[in-house]
Amino acid sequence: MNAIGVDVGGTKIAAAVVGPDGRILDEVRYPTPHSPRKLVENIARAVAEVGDDHEAGGVCLAVPGLILARENRVVFSPNLHAIEGIALMDEIEPKIGLPLTIENDGNAAAWGEFRFGVGSEADHLVFVALGTGVGGGVVSHGVLMRGAQGSGGELGHVTIHATGPRCACGNHGCLEALASGTAIGRRARELAVENPDSALGHLAASRQILGEDVTELARNGDELALSVLEETGTWLGVGLAGFVNIFNPEVVAVGGGVLEAGELILASARREVHLRARPPSRDLAEVKVATLGPKSGVLGAAALARDGSSGEYLLGG
Ligand SMILES: [Zn+2]
Repeated sequence: MNAIGVDVGGTKIAAAVVGPDGRILDEVRYPTPHSPRKLVENIARAVAEVGDDHEAGGVCLAVPGLILARENRVVFSPNLHAIEGIALMDEIEPKIGLPLTIENDGNAAAWGEFRFGVGSEADHLVFVALGTGVGGGVVSHGVLMRGAQGSGGELGHVTIHATGPRCACGNHGCLEALASGTAIGRRARELAVENPDSALGHLAASRQILGEDVTELARNGDELALSVLEETGTWLGVGLAGFVNIFNPEVVAVGGGVLEAGELILASARREVHLRARPPSRDLAEVKVATLGPKSGVLGAAALARDGSSGEYLLGG
Protein backbone atom coordinates (compact mmCIF):
# COMPACT_ATOMS: atom_id res chain seq x y z
CA MET A 1 0.00 0.00 0.00
CA ASN A 2 1.25 3.49 -0.88
CA ALA A 3 1.44 6.21 1.74
CA ILE A 4 1.76 9.99 1.64
CA GLY A 5 4.63 11.81 3.31
CA VAL A 6 4.42 15.56 3.86
CA ASP A 7 7.44 17.66 4.81
CA VAL A 8 6.24 20.93 6.34
CA GLY A 9 9.13 23.39 6.21
CA GLY A 10 9.49 27.06 7.05
CA THR A 11 9.12 28.11 3.39
CA LYS A 12 7.52 25.18 1.56
CA ILE A 13 5.25 22.19 2.03
CA ALA A 14 6.38 19.13 0.03
CA ALA A 15 3.96 16.22 -0.28
CA ALA A 16 4.72 12.90 -2.01
CA VAL A 17 2.96 9.59 -2.66
CA VAL A 18 5.51 6.90 -1.98
CA GLY A 19 5.35 3.21 -2.86
CA PRO A 20 6.39 0.47 -0.39
CA ASP A 21 9.83 0.30 -2.05
CA GLY A 22 10.52 4.01 -1.43
CA ARG A 23 9.75 5.12 -4.97
CA ILE A 24 8.15 8.57 -5.24
CA LEU A 25 5.10 8.16 -7.49
CA ASP A 26 4.02 11.78 -7.46
CA GLU A 27 4.88 14.94 -5.57
CA VAL A 28 3.71 18.53 -5.18
CA ARG A 29 4.98 21.64 -3.45
CA TYR A 30 3.04 24.48 -1.91
CA PRO A 31 4.28 27.60 -0.15
CA THR A 32 4.12 27.57 3.65
CA PRO A 33 1.65 30.21 4.83
CA HIS A 34 2.40 31.66 8.25
CA SER A 35 -1.21 31.82 9.46
CA PRO A 36 -2.67 28.71 11.15
CA ARG A 37 -5.84 28.54 9.04
CA LYS A 38 -4.04 28.90 5.70
CA LEU A 39 -1.36 26.47 6.81
CA VAL A 40 -3.96 23.78 7.49
CA GLU A 41 -5.62 24.57 4.14
CA ASN A 42 -2.39 24.27 2.16
CA ILE A 43 -1.36 21.00 3.85
CA ALA A 44 -4.80 19.53 3.10
CA ARG A 45 -4.66 20.84 -0.48
CA ALA A 46 -1.19 19.36 -1.06
CA VAL A 47 -2.31 15.95 0.24
CA ALA A 48 -5.51 16.01 -1.85
CA GLU A 49 -3.66 17.00 -5.01
CA VAL A 50 -0.82 14.51 -4.71
CA GLY A 51 -3.17 11.69 -3.73
CA ASP A 52 -5.60 12.36 -6.56
CA ASP A 53 -4.35 9.69 -8.98
CA HIS A 54 -2.92 7.23 -6.46
CA GLU A 55 -4.43 5.02 -3.81
CA ALA A 56 -2.84 5.69 -0.43
CA GLY A 57 -3.58 4.30 3.02
CA GLY A 58 -2.31 7.02 5.34
CA VAL A 59 -0.47 10.29 5.77
CA CYS A 60 2.35 11.39 8.05
CA LEU A 61 3.33 15.04 8.48
CA ALA A 62 7.00 15.75 9.18
CA VAL A 63 6.82 18.96 11.18
CA PRO A 64 9.47 21.34 12.50
CA GLY A 65 9.77 21.65 16.26
CA LEU A 66 8.97 19.78 19.44
CA ILE A 67 5.89 17.58 19.29
CA LEU A 68 3.52 15.80 21.62
CA ALA A 69 2.95 12.66 19.55
CA ARG A 70 -0.10 11.39 21.43
CA GLU A 71 -1.90 14.70 20.92
CA ASN A 72 -0.60 15.15 17.35
CA ARG A 73 0.42 18.67 18.25
CA VAL A 74 3.53 20.82 17.80
CA VAL A 75 4.27 22.65 21.04
CA PHE A 76 7.33 24.72 20.04
CA SER A 77 8.53 25.62 16.55
CA PRO A 78 10.87 28.64 16.40
CA ASN A 79 10.87 28.71 12.57
CA LEU A 80 7.12 28.15 12.10
CA HIS A 81 5.16 29.58 15.01
CA ALA A 82 1.90 29.27 13.03
CA ILE A 83 1.92 25.49 13.50
CA GLU A 84 2.19 25.65 17.31
CA GLY A 85 -0.85 24.32 19.13
CA ILE A 86 -2.93 23.30 16.09
CA ALA A 87 -4.80 20.02 16.66
CA LEU A 88 -3.38 18.73 13.38
CA MET A 89 -5.21 15.41 13.28
CA ASP A 90 -8.62 16.92 14.12
CA GLU A 91 -8.15 19.79 11.67
CA ILE A 92 -6.71 17.91 8.69
CA GLU A 93 -8.07 14.33 8.79
CA PRO A 94 -11.67 15.32 7.97
CA LYS A 95 -10.43 17.35 4.99
CA ILE A 96 -8.39 14.49 3.48
CA GLY A 97 -10.30 11.38 4.54
CA LEU A 98 -7.13 9.47 5.46
CA PRO A 99 -5.58 8.56 8.84
CA LEU A 100 -2.95 11.13 9.81
CA THR A 101 0.01 11.06 12.20
CA ILE A 102 2.78 13.56 12.85
CA GLU A 103 6.52 13.22 13.41
CA ASN A 104 9.33 15.66 14.08
CA ASP A 105 11.06 16.47 10.77
CA GLY A 106 14.52 15.40 11.95
CA ASN A 107 13.15 12.08 13.16
CA ALA A 108 11.28 11.55 9.88
CA ALA A 109 14.42 12.31 7.86
CA ALA A 110 16.43 9.90 10.02
CA TRP A 111 13.82 7.23 9.32
CA GLY A 112 14.03 8.00 5.58
CA GLU A 113 17.81 7.52 5.57
CA PHE A 114 17.40 4.35 7.65
CA ARG A 115 14.79 2.81 5.37
CA PHE A 116 15.92 3.96 1.94
CA GLY A 117 19.22 5.87 2.21
CA VAL A 118 22.70 5.63 3.66
CA GLY A 119 21.52 3.62 6.68
CA SER A 120 19.50 0.97 4.82
CA GLU A 121 22.01 -1.75 5.72
CA ALA A 122 22.28 -0.68 9.39
CA ASP A 123 20.23 -1.41 12.52
CA HIS A 124 21.67 1.53 14.47
CA LEU A 125 21.80 4.98 12.90
CA VAL A 126 22.39 8.53 14.08
CA PHE A 127 21.30 11.22 11.62
CA VAL A 128 22.15 14.91 11.80
CA ALA A 129 20.96 17.53 9.27
CA LEU A 130 22.89 20.80 9.12
CA GLY A 131 20.78 23.61 7.67
CA THR A 132 19.64 26.95 9.04
CA GLY A 133 19.26 24.93 12.23
CA VAL A 134 20.40 21.43 13.15
CA GLY A 135 17.88 18.59 13.11
CA GLY A 136 18.47 14.99 13.95
CA GLY A 137 17.15 11.59 14.82
CA VAL A 138 18.25 8.23 16.17
CA VAL A 139 17.34 4.71 15.11
CA SER A 140 18.33 2.05 17.65
CA HIS A 141 17.73 -1.71 17.14
CA GLY A 142 15.74 -0.79 14.03
CA VAL A 143 13.30 1.38 15.98
CA LEU A 144 12.97 5.16 15.73
CA MET A 145 13.81 6.62 19.12
CA ARG A 146 10.96 9.00 19.99
CA GLY A 147 11.04 9.11 23.79
CA ALA A 148 8.08 9.21 26.16
CA GLN A 149 6.26 12.07 24.41
CA GLY A 150 7.59 11.94 20.87
CA SER A 151 9.93 14.87 21.41
CA GLY A 152 13.13 12.81 21.74
CA GLY A 153 15.99 12.82 19.27
CA GLU A 154 16.56 16.59 19.38
CA LEU A 155 20.26 16.21 18.64
CA GLY A 156 20.63 19.84 17.54
CA HIS A 157 19.89 21.10 21.04
CA VAL A 158 22.45 19.09 22.94
CA THR A 159 24.75 21.51 24.77
CA ILE A 160 28.35 21.08 23.62
CA HIS A 161 29.78 24.40 24.89
CA ALA A 162 28.34 25.64 28.19
CA THR A 163 29.15 29.32 27.57
CA GLY A 164 28.83 29.17 23.77
CA PRO A 165 26.71 31.42 21.54
CA ARG A 166 23.00 31.72 22.12
CA CYS A 167 20.80 29.25 20.21
CA ALA A 168 17.39 29.90 18.59
CA CYS A 169 15.92 27.73 21.39
CA GLY A 170 17.12 30.18 24.06
CA ASN A 171 19.88 27.93 25.43
CA HIS A 172 23.60 28.62 24.99
CA GLY A 173 26.14 26.49 23.15
CA CYS A 174 23.78 23.97 21.51
CA LEU A 175 25.16 21.95 18.58
CA GLU A 176 22.81 24.07 16.43
CA ALA A 177 24.42 27.29 17.70
CA LEU A 178 27.88 26.01 16.70
CA ALA A 179 27.49 23.81 13.61
CA SER A 180 24.52 25.18 11.60
CA GLY A 181 24.56 27.34 8.48
CA THR A 182 23.56 30.20 10.77
CA ALA A 183 26.64 29.53 12.93
CA ILE A 184 28.88 29.52 9.84
CA GLY A 185 27.51 32.89 8.76
CA ARG A 186 28.00 34.35 12.24
CA ARG A 187 31.58 33.05 12.54
CA ALA A 188 32.45 34.38 9.08
CA ARG A 189 31.01 37.83 9.86
CA GLU A 190 33.07 38.03 13.05
CA LEU A 191 36.25 37.15 11.15
CA ALA A 192 35.37 39.66 8.43
CA VAL A 193 35.31 42.44 11.04
CA GLU A 194 38.68 41.32 12.45
CA ASN A 195 40.19 40.96 8.95
CA PRO A 196 38.77 43.79 6.79
CA ASP A 197 41.35 43.21 4.02
CA SER A 198 40.46 39.52 3.58
CA ALA A 199 38.05 38.16 0.96
CA LEU A 200 35.46 37.76 3.74
CA GLY A 201 36.13 41.36 4.81
CA HIS A 202 35.61 42.67 1.26
CA LEU A 203 32.39 40.69 0.89
CA ALA A 204 31.09 41.91 4.25
CA ALA A 205 31.62 45.50 3.10
CA SER A 206 29.06 45.02 0.31
CA ARG A 207 26.48 42.68 1.86
CA GLN A 208 25.69 40.16 4.59
CA ILE A 209 27.85 37.01 4.38
CA LEU A 210 25.91 33.74 4.14
CA GLY A 211 26.96 30.16 4.81
CA GLU A 212 27.14 29.38 1.08
CA ASP A 213 29.54 32.31 0.50
CA VAL A 214 31.93 30.72 2.96
CA THR A 215 31.75 27.36 1.18
CA GLU A 216 32.45 28.97 -2.19
CA LEU A 217 35.45 30.93 -0.88
CA ALA A 218 36.79 27.83 0.89
CA ARG A 219 36.52 25.78 -2.32
CA ASN A 220 38.72 28.40 -3.97
CA GLY A 221 41.31 27.93 -1.23
CA ASP A 222 40.61 31.00 0.90
CA GLU A 223 42.37 30.32 4.23
CA LEU A 224 39.98 32.27 6.43
CA ALA A 225 36.90 30.62 4.91
CA LEU A 226 38.55 27.22 5.26
CA SER A 227 39.17 27.95 8.95
CA VAL A 228 35.47 28.74 9.45
CA LEU A 229 34.43 25.37 8.00
CA GLU A 230 37.18 23.56 9.89
CA GLU A 231 35.97 25.04 13.19
CA THR A 232 32.37 24.18 12.29
CA GLY A 233 33.39 20.58 11.58
CA THR A 234 35.28 20.44 14.87
CA TRP A 235 32.17 21.42 16.84
CA LEU A 236 30.11 18.99 14.78
CA GLY A 237 32.61 16.26 15.68
CA VAL A 238 32.37 17.12 19.39
CA GLY A 239 28.61 16.53 19.16
CA LEU A 240 28.92 13.38 17.04
CA ALA A 241 31.51 11.87 19.40
CA GLY A 242 28.97 12.12 22.22
CA PHE A 243 26.29 10.46 20.06
CA VAL A 244 28.72 7.67 19.10
CA ASN A 245 29.45 7.02 22.79
CA ILE A 246 25.76 6.99 23.71
CA PHE A 247 24.20 5.09 20.82
CA ASN A 248 27.03 2.92 19.42
CA PRO A 249 25.72 3.38 15.86
CA GLU A 250 27.02 1.64 12.76
CA VAL A 251 26.35 4.73 10.67
CA VAL A 252 26.43 8.43 11.52
CA ALA A 253 24.71 10.15 8.59
CA VAL A 254 25.22 13.87 8.08
CA GLY A 255 22.92 15.71 5.67
CA GLY A 256 21.40 19.14 5.08
CA GLY A 257 22.30 22.07 2.85
CA VAL A 258 25.52 22.87 4.74
CA LEU A 259 26.94 19.54 3.53
CA GLU A 260 27.48 21.21 0.15
CA ALA A 261 30.83 21.89 1.81
CA GLY A 262 31.35 18.10 2.10
CA GLU A 263 34.80 17.06 3.29
CA LEU A 264 35.71 20.68 4.13
CA ILE A 265 33.49 20.13 7.17
CA LEU A 266 33.43 16.35 7.55
CA ALA A 267 37.21 15.82 7.69
CA SER A 268 37.56 17.77 10.94
CA ALA A 269 34.34 16.19 12.29
CA ARG A 270 35.76 12.69 11.70
CA ARG A 271 39.05 13.68 13.31
CA GLU A 272 37.21 14.91 16.41
CA VAL A 273 35.07 11.77 16.61
CA HIS A 274 38.25 9.70 16.48
CA LEU A 275 39.87 11.78 19.25
CA ARG A 276 36.89 11.91 21.59
CA ALA A 277 34.67 8.84 21.14
CA ARG A 278 35.69 5.61 22.88
CA PRO A 279 36.47 2.28 21.28
CA PRO A 280 34.89 -0.04 20.34
CA SER A 281 32.05 2.35 19.38
CA ARG A 282 34.53 4.78 17.80
CA ASP A 283 35.98 2.12 15.52
CA LEU A 284 32.60 0.86 14.31
CA ALA A 285 30.86 4.16 13.57
CA GLU A 286 31.22 5.43 10.01
CA VAL A 287 30.56 9.14 9.51
CA LYS A 288 28.92 9.32 6.07
CA VAL A 289 27.11 11.87 3.92
CA ALA A 290 23.34 11.21 3.88
CA THR A 291 22.20 10.12 0.42
CA LEU A 292 18.54 11.18 0.10
CA GLY A 293 19.14 14.95 0.19
CA PRO A 294 15.96 17.02 0.68
CA LYS A 295 13.77 13.95 -0.05
CA SER A 296 14.61 12.25 3.26
CA GLY A 297 11.70 14.00 5.03
CA VAL A 298 8.88 12.97 2.67
CA LEU A 299 10.30 9.46 2.23
CA GLY A 300 10.69 8.94 5.96
CA ALA A 301 7.26 10.36 6.72
CA ALA A 302 5.61 8.12 4.11
CA ALA A 303 7.40 5.06 5.51
CA LEU A 304 6.23 6.02 9.02
CA ALA A 305 2.64 6.40 7.79
CA ARG A 306 2.82 2.98 6.21
CA ASP A 307 4.89 0.94 8.64
CA GLY A 308 5.07 2.87 11.93
CA SER A 309 8.30 3.59 13.72
CA SER A 310 9.18 0.01 14.62
CA GLY A 311 7.93 -1.99 11.66
CA GLU A 312 4.35 -2.53 12.91
CA TYR A 313 3.19 -2.42 9.27
CA LEU A 314 0.22 -0.20 10.07
CA LEU A 315 -1.29 -0.33 6.60
CA GLY A 316 -0.27 -3.88 5.64
CA GLY A 317 1.18 -4.93 2.29
ZN1 LIG B 1 19.26 25.03 21.07
